Amino acid sequence: EHAPEKIDYVFKVVVIGDSAVGKTQILSRFTNEFCFDSKSTIGVEFQTRTVTIKSKVIKAQIWDTAGQERYRAVTSAYYRGALGAMLVYDITKRQSFDHVARWVEELRAHADSSIAIMLIGNKADLVDLRAVPTEDAVEFAEDQGLFFAETSALSGDNVDKAFFKLLGEIYGVL
Ligand code: GDP
Ligand code: MG
Repeated sequence: EHAPEKIDYVFKVVVIGDSAVGKTQILSRFTNEFCFDSKSTIGVEFQTRTVTIKSKVIKAQIWDTAGQERYRAVTSAYYRGALGAMLVYDITKRQSFDHVARWVEELRAHADSSIAIMLIGNKADLVDLRAVPTEDAVEFAEDQGLFFAETSALSGDNVDKAFFKLLGEIYGVL
């Protein structure tokens, strides 16, 4: 734990993507808040975790859509001041990957143009149900200038690594 006065930067990161892809679980994994029922997070605006990157103390303030994505009602206030975005799809749901382009458009329309975007293929533990080949996502990410990782919020695989990569990239362009 760090004393508040020691914090060098606060980075706002938004988590977006279709409903049920695992956004809330990924966030809970990273912030170490065990979630009995992720639906109960409705109304919560953000969670935080303080990390050290290159000896700077960074407070990551990570915003969850809290169910608004179902109505495509994520407001511009949600994106305001965000330095990074985790754009999540479910590797077992092709439609959630097909919608990624729409979410990128949303970001381009509402967020700062310098926002760092990490495309996340979640539920990588469900190998037998995979519907989105890794290569398709790699190609899309390269094309759009996004970082990319596959994660499992269930096992925790790659979740910290993906967040640290995004936060490091944000720090790098400050
Ligand atoms: P959100 O609507 O995007 O916030 O999705 P949630 O975080 O609420 O997750 C939706 C459902 O997917 C829940 O039943 C989770 O337990 C499940 N889930 C989330 N992440 C994973 C994962 O990495 N692997 C598996 N197998 N299930 C997951
Ligand atoms: Mg959620």
